[in-house]
Amino acid sequence: PESESESESVEGNTLVVDALTANGVSTIYGVVGIPVTDLARTAQDRGVRYLGFRNEQAAGHAAAAAGYLTGRPGICLTVSAPGFLNGLVALANATVNCFPMIQISGSSDRAIVDLEQGDYEELDQVATARPFTKAAYRVDSPELIGVGVGRAIRAAVSGRPGGVYLDLPANVLSASAVRTPPPQIVDPSPRQIPAPESVDRAVALLEQARRPLIVLGKGAAYARADAVIRELVEATGAPFLPMSMAKGLLPDDHPQSAAAARSLVLARADVVVLIGARLNWLLDHGRPPRWSADARFIQLDIFATEFDSNRPIEAPVLGDIASSVAALLAAIRRSRIAPVPEWREQIEASKRANIKRMDAQLHADVHPMDFAVALRAIRDVLDDHRDAIVVSEGANTLDSARNIIPIYAPRHRLDAGTWGVMGVGLGYAIAAAVETGEPVVAIEGDSAFGFSGMEIETICRYKLPVVVIVFNNGGVYRGDEVNAHSDDPAPTVLLHSSRYDTLIEAFGGIGYHAETPAQVAAALRSALTTAAPALIDCVIDPAVGTESGHLQMLNRPAREEEP
Ligand code: ADP
Repeated sequence: PESESESESVEGNTLVVDALTANGVSTIYGVVGIPVTDLARTAQDRGVRYLGFRNEQAAGHAAAAAGYLTGRPGICLTVSAPGFLNGLVALANATVNCFPMIQISGSSDRAIVDLEQGDYEELDQVATARPFTKAAYRVDSPELIGVGVGRAIRAAVSGRPGGVYLDLPANVLSASAVRTPPPQIVDPSPRQIPAPESVDRAVALLEQARRPLIVLGKGAAYARADAVIRELVEATGAPFLPMSMAKGLLPDDHPQSAAAARSLVLARADVVVLIGARLNWLLDHGRPPRWSADARFIQLDIFATEFDSNRPIEAPVLGDIASSVAALLAAIRRSRIAPVPEWREQIEASKRANIKRMDAQLHADVHPMDFAVALRAIRDVLDDHRDAIVVSEGANTLDSARNIIPIYAPRHRLDAGTWGVMGVGLGYAIAAAVETGEPVVAIEGDSAFGFSGMEIETICRYKLPVVVIVFNNGGVYRGDEVNAHSDDPAPTVLLHSSRYDTLIEAFGGIGYHAETPAQVAAALRSALTTAAPALIDCVIDPAVGTESGHLQMLNRPAREEEP
């Protein structure tokens, strides 16, 4: 056993683990290899949980999701150059999504890298990481490891959270230094109280609202201010619209939810309160015709330059969500906010019409299944498992699941996020299971699943309660496109005959094959009862699905046949 004597000399690896544990890190997601294998072993020896993945990108996505779910930085460990680059996709995605994450990577000998003399896995990793991160640091001597880890932690979680890169060269990890107590970061994410006048301005604008709308984003879900956000929404009486990862912040069956009347509320709201949501592409940049040209905006955010990025923000409230929402709530209790009664009536009428239309799709008698009927079967089972965390990615699978699967608890839906990226699914699912201990259901398009499919071995190795459902329609978007010019399949086509269920059986998990809604429901029910790794191959008609799902406006017009 290591002596805790202060004058003792220890390896860099030990100093890294000292600094991480002193700051509450209990889990590392990664892929080992030169020069970080001993770092992972040292962490495990010291009671830090190490989860080994099959590809750094999935490990990185897991760390990012861990950050989002816990509010503490998720840690990803990678090897030099190629492993580092694989992880960097996830670190960039974490930065874009405002998730706190630290990628710790080993790197090659600085002297050789800087002179480009050709080392094993040579790359200037700090320079490479910098444009994709909130901060990027390198530790050049073992004595500075504690300071480096501490800076990375504060950079990741303070203010707007994001991805931080921490470079640890091989010679620093193996060098010896005197063991001293590492810095413990005090209050790494301090509260940021909004200015009183900004709160007054917001309330004054809200008092003028006849058709108010509250938009909740994943920043609001991340802030873990669930109770006060619900109180604010209920005190205003305003309809609210949850962005996809904010679903469940208030339950989807809450009477003020306007999710089923989305087009109507966006087009007609006169005063909009954005809480931890950006007016980016996911909200059509706040522009007409989707939004009213006369709409006026209040925005609660922790990052000042977010304001006015798309539409002028008449009442910006700069602060952390918990403090800002609490301040707004206190001020609102002294004011009169009175949506006109017709607003609620219009929303109710629109909700009823849309729910009726969707209900017909959900109960259609179609063989093979389409997305809607398969998702209805999943929805009905999940209704009895409201603690389950839902992960979702794909094009049509993602879009349909967002609309069909209700979420009842905060931070219980993780998806393709701000970039609309594919490949996050299994990493997010693994972190959700590890960090919360709750059951996880990953609803995956067959193409999306392919990006990180090998991580089903990781799920089986750690015996995680994850059910992966692969929507197998044999293609990217759909599986029936024909290439008229050669025997090669069309660019969008995958093998529809694939039996994804047999993959997980190779690793000792349970595979299910489902061709009808009843089989989907029975498989999911059985998998959730067993609470063991499972994969359901859910066979969907290759002829259903639209190009790019709901994002058809980003495609160029239909391709003309070449003359
Ligand atoms: P969505 O995609 O759900 O609309 P976004 O990721 O676009 O959400 O927006 C999240 C916003 O929340 C970002 O602008 C970010 O700065 C902000 N944010 C994140 N965490 C906090 C926090 N703790 N307090 C205040 N704002 C936050």
